Amino acid sequence: MSLVLDNVTLTYPDGDRDRVLAVDGVSLSVPRGRLVGLTGPSGCGKSSVLSVAGTLITPDSGHVEVAGATVEDLDAEDRARLRREQVGFVFQHDNLLPDLTALEQVLLPVHLAGGRPSRHRARARDLLAEVGLADAVDRRPGQLSGGMRQRVNIARALMGEPAVLLADEPTSALDSHRAAEMIDLLVRLVSEHDVAALFVTHDMRALDDADEVVRMLDGQVAELTHAR
Ligand code: ADP
Ligand code: MG
Repeated sequence: MSLVLDNVTLTYPDGDRDRVLAVDGVSLSVPRGRLVGLTGPSGCGKSSVLSVAGTLITPDSGHVEVAGATVEDLDAEDRARLRREQVGFVFQHDNLLPDLTALEQVLLPVHLAGGRPSRHRARARDLLAEVGLADAVDRRPGQLSGGMRQRVNIARALMGEPAVLLADEPTSALDSHRAAEMIDLLVRLVSEHDVAALFVTHDMRALDDADEVVRMLDGQVAELTHAR
């Protein structure tokens, strides 16, 4: 398993004394090459689960494993390294920098990790070609459609060859046609890049194509469906 959450509980401070129970004993696991859809009503804890899975938030209790590493055993520095090396994120909004070309956006993680972008340019170009942007490598976000920007995001998330890909409603800002294309693309990339993907969505198409669907309600896993 590339991603394991076992009995994870997470609370947030709420006012002076109370805490909100955002994730309540959630267990799930995602093997490499599989796409797990995470769905449920707004506020049920989906983004919180993703933040825990991506080691962005340390849960109050429970066990988290990413690419074989036990997250609760790591200090902040090792967690950050694990996140950088093994986790790719795709968010609802594309988070692209307005002045960078598509190629530069994809190379940004290499920059941030202190690597030399020149050595990685060919791979970045290949990834952009894989997401259908071979002809757009030199375009800046203002010259790309919403769907294209989201595809740059996906290429960037895969740049570090992560074991785990986390996507939070990546199709919710797209029309249904573009959303369907995006889902087909994600399904293909998950198997080609052999990543464990956890994908928050309300899109029925996406849930149909997922290997497994986890339905949350009030911070808990309400239902788990094996699609195939
Ligand atoms: P979803 O992604 O399913 O909409 P979230 O994980 O964002 O759900 O939120 C789960 C619960 O935790 C909600 O009650 C939300 O209000 C609360 N919550 C989320 N983030 C924070 C935060 N940073 N501080 C306090 N409460 C939060
Ligand atoms: Mg959310």
